[in-house]
Amino acid sequence: MPTAAGKCYLIGAGPGDPGLLTLRGRERLRVADLVLYDYLVNPQILKFAKPGAELVCLGRHGRGHGRLLDQEEVHRRMVAAARAGQVVARLKGGDPAIFGRTAEEIAALEEARISYEVIPGVSAAQAASAYAGFPLTNRASAAGVAFITGQLCSDKQDASLDLEPLARFPGTLVFYMGVSSAAEWAAELISHGKPSETPVAVVRHASLPQQQVHTTTLQELPRLIQSINLRPPAIIIVGDAVAARGSMDWFAARPLFGRTVLVTRPVHQAEALAELLAESGAAVMFQPAIEIGPPQNWAAVDAAIERLSQFDWLVFSSANGVHGFLQRLGRHRLDLRALRDAKLAVIGPATAEALSEYHLRADLQPDEYVAESLAKALLSGAGAQRMLLLRASRGREVLAEELSAAGAVVEQVIVYESRDVTTADAEVTAALREGRIDWITVTSSAIARALMGLFGQDLRRAKLAAISPLTASVLGDAGYQAAAVADQYTSRGLFDAILRAEPGIARPQRHQERPCPE
Ligand code: SAH
Repeated sequence: MPTAAGKCYLIGAGPGDPGLLTLRGRERLRVADLVLYDYLVNPQILKFAKPGAELVCLGRHGRGHGRLLDQEEVHRRMVAAARAGQVVARLKGGDPAIFGRTAEEIAALEEARISYEVIPGVSAAQAASAYAGFPLTNRASAAGVAFITGQLCSDKQDASLDLEPLARFPGTLVFYMGVSSAAEWAAELISHGKPSETPVAVVRHASLPQQQVHTTTLQELPRLIQSINLRPPAIIIVGDAVAARGSMDWFAARPLFGRTVLVTRPVHQAEALAELLAESGAAVMFQPAIEIGPPQNWAAVDAAIERLSQFDWLVFSSANGVHGFLQRLGRHRLDLRALRDAKLAVIGPATAEALSEYHLRADLQPDEYVAESLAKALLSGAGAQRMLLLRASRGREVLAEELSAAGAVVEQVIVYESRDVTTADAEVTAALREGRIDWITVTSSAIARALMGLFGQDLRRAKLAAISPLTASVLGDAGYQAAAVADQYTSRGLFDAILRAEPGIARPQRHQERPCPE
């Protein structure tokens, strides 16, 4: 019986797409104190770990952020942490039980009498089959599947695998880790009678936005690998099942597949846009260009809150303003009833949506989501109305100016600060310089200016998508031409503008030949 109080979960992280992690895997990852993850595990999955958990990458070939741990050291770390009462998540690429050295890890845990569980994952073969669009089996020509490690197929290995029975196997052969030894195992299969014209698919980075699929024949495979300079991780699938890859290319057929888009919103606001882009197949990178924080001084807001009943309108020009103001109300031990005498105006749907999170409904939203239209809408029914504008530390003055000019009594208070981010992420900068970013989304004038500070001339290396003509003109005035401009000034509108600007039909849909650095 195990004696230790801690526990180790051997969790399959799946092939790359974070959505392929199982619910059970996610749930156990959330309680782990120590996460030991393989270098092939998508780091995005680590967001499911609990805050403060220790994350250790078992890097390989200098990759990954942690130091290199050999197998013995992995065992020692798992055992020591579990003995100290910790919950350990041993996060492994794909399925832990397929070419994952799981048997060795289990033996080490059993020897140390540590309790453990194995949580399966989607293996690379299954992901490649699903995401490249051909089932691994079919009734006509593939009665079974064999998973084979290419590591044992090289002459250089002592325990070389006998491929003769596999040449006669009446089904699909899937080679893991088979890239460097492909010339040897392909020739051997042919020499044992496997037809040289047998269809082959090579799937690199299965299930990820940078997935590449190449089809060839067994005979031609080594030449293909050489000509495209194929590097791991790739899985090679051999058999007639591959021929079924016809119209089933749903993954690469998505409109932004093969495109990389940079989202520059503050972190807490980036999700909606990022999701739209990712669902259309884009690889999404993040570089917040501005960050949002509380104002330096709440005095003016506090004073306005004391006099809330004096205002006819509360005017919100962003979702951040809604959150900043309503959270401050709570500090005064007030609740929503404090707003009962005022009407609420918003600049656009995202701001209205923020209000609705507090069960508040906007009384007014202009048809066009800019300050000028908001001013016009507010003035249409108003005489000398008293208006409180809840705004950012920097922003346009046009709303206050137009309202005041029309006779409204306008008071402005700063409910949040917006600051430029001044250092760019190194990986994002490198991707931009190397031409690996296709689009940069520019979701406000402030973001446009901050991006110029962050990237300068490098901004020309990608196409710019502006959320409104105003944002496009801020870019244009500085000499940067927007390649797409939204006509609805929302995340959805911006996304639609990018889709419209994509050449679509002229793009390679099948083979992504663009170099994909390791
Ligand atoms: N346990 C893993 C396999 C580990 S061996 C699983 O079940 O998938 C590592 C090999 O898996 C790589 O060399 C490659 O052949 C394959 N592999 C892992 N992830 C992959 C991916 N996203 N796309 C293609 N092949 C992948």
